[in-house]
Amino acid sequence: MKKIEHIGIAVKDLEAGNDLYEKLLGVAHYKIEEVASEGVRTSFFQSGPNKIELLEATTEDGPIAKFLEKKGEGIHHIAFAVDNIVEEMERLKKEGFILLNEKPKKGADNKLVAFVHPKTAGGVLVELCQEINNLQ
Ligand code: ZN
Repeated sequence: MKKIEHIGIAVKDLEAGNDLYEKLLGVAHYKIEEVASEGVRTSFFQSGPNKIELLEATTEDGPIAKFLEKKGEGIHHIAFAVDNIVEEMERLKKEGFILLNEKPKKGADNKLVAFVHPKTAGGVLVELCQEINNLQ
């Protein structure tokens, strides 16, 4: 894995979350994007070299809605940039990690994404992401 691509933070209300993180980071969000297949609306902040993704549930039974119900607002996942997501998924499977997706899927911000089950990753939901225009 190359680097941390972003940190995902679950919020109950995206507008309130945007206000809070704009004050905290001293910079406005640069994009809002809905990923209907995941039941989520996201916004992105750039803080120096780092990226923060806020996630709001748009459906009652999606992964963010379930997370908020169980744990409340807070850090939801850590995303790592990879060059070849399929190869990285194979490597992790061989190492015994359980993946939440069989195949990479289209995520926010022009990325192919896949998730590693937190039970097998020390309690951390890990996202792999590959730029879509970087497909081999
Ligand atoms: Zn993410």
